[in-house]
Amino acid sequence: MWHTYSFYGKRRKIILFNRYDTANVILIEGEKRILIDPGLKTPPGLNSIDEIWITHCHPDHTRSIKHFSSPVYTHPLARRILEASSPPLALREFELSSVREITKNFTRIKANTINSMAERCYWIFSAPLITGWRRIKIKGTLEDGEERYGIKILYLPGHTPDGMGYFLPEEKILISGDILIGSIIRHSNLYSPSSDIDQAIYSLEKMLSLSPSIILPGHGRPVFNATHIIKGVLRETLRLREKIFSCFNPEDPWETICCWQRALHPSSSLAARLSSLAVFYRAILQSR
Ligand SMILES: [Zn+2]
Repeated sequence: MWHTYSFYGKRRKIILFNRYDTANVILIEGEKRILIDPGLKTPPGLNSIDEIWITHCHPDHTRSIKHFSSPVYTHPLARRILEASSPPLALREFELSSVREITKNFTRIKANTINSMAERCYWIFSAPLITGWRRIKIKGTLEDGEERYGIKILYLPGHTPDGMGYFLPEEKILISGDILIGSIIRHSNLYSPSSDIDQAIYSLEKMLSLSPSIILPGHGRPVFNATHIIKGVLRETLRLREKIFSCFNPEDPWETICCWQRALHPSSSLAARLSSLAVFYRAILQSR
């Protein structure tokens, strides 16, 4: 069952469609009818859509694009994945290669161990389980800072490197994608093998600088008192990063990883642990 939340600006209406088992679908009805993230399932009655914009390429946000003939706009990386002959395989290859990239310089820990953990995690949680996710044609890409129909386009990496957000300055509404799922996770959503905690901090600070009143996140209900919530999520994410760094011991990467597991408790998701590998990797490079 879909729950809808409507917001009214002077010259447009914004509707968030939410249900528990898929990502949020958002419709902006103004000068143009813009659909943001058609989702895994699409609510009924969405027609005459002028443009589709997506927040990131994950299948729970994009699988239903195939039901529309409207032009689709994305981040360039999302374009590469969605235009591949098989988006699930392209995403798998991308996410696993980001893990390989992070672990390639490890010497005292078997990178293979991490890679096989990542692979297992990937098959359990991710794209291959989503059926009917097919190649689509992308009309164009979106640029950070660009403005389209009175909507400001923002690059918001962190959950994934192709994260895009959309800010409606008149209504002070920010469509954030998965970087922040305020009601569900205290820190930024790092549950993807390509998540990066430093990028998430960059994005949260950028979001804060806009002083939004309402966030329409990638999952869950609208977030009111948005500035306060972003501050809290930023604080928790910084704390998490601090914990990860305090465990860092370049002499003993394996012990470091075991410490992370404790630091990240109770979020025992392997993907969350892997996301912090990016921070770890950077720390190794800096320590040389
Ligand atoms: Zn996602």
